Amino acid sequence: MSAPRRRSSITIRDSWIAVSQAYDDRAARNFALSTDVRLLSAARARIEFNGHSHFGRGELRHILSKVNERTGEVSDLSNSALSRAIDRMVEARMLLPGSWSECLIHDPFTVQTGVKGYETECPAKPHGLSKNFQSAGIPSV
Ligand SMILES: [Zn+2]
Repeated sequence: MSAPRRRSSITIRDSWIAVSQAYDDRAARNFALSTDVRLLSAARARIEFNGHSHFGRGELRHILSKVNERTGEVSDLSNSALSRAIDRMVEARMLLPGSWSECLIHDPFTVQTGVKGYETECPAKPHGLSKNFQSAGIPSV
């Protein structure tokens, strides 16, 4: 175990915890949260053994659907809004390059799947295996 780092009054250790995927799935569908938080929650809710999170065609846009505050109508997130949100997560190093609407790729440094799955072919699209990507390390906050 490495020495803990202190940020404000919270002690952060470079150790692991388990996160409920059901909790993240609920957060992903919570209209009160921002698109970015919902996207990251959806990504974590679907982490598979190869460190990827897979979605069917249009499924992620539906999970991240929005409510029109004036009419109350619910509609899927647009393709462009989803692409921009994924780009922001990649830019912030929360997801790896190659992520797209049907496969969100986690940095192997940040996800422990319990299986040496990073050699597993991605069923969504041959966008490259995670072994081709360099770990971004812990995102700076
Ligand atoms: Zn994949």
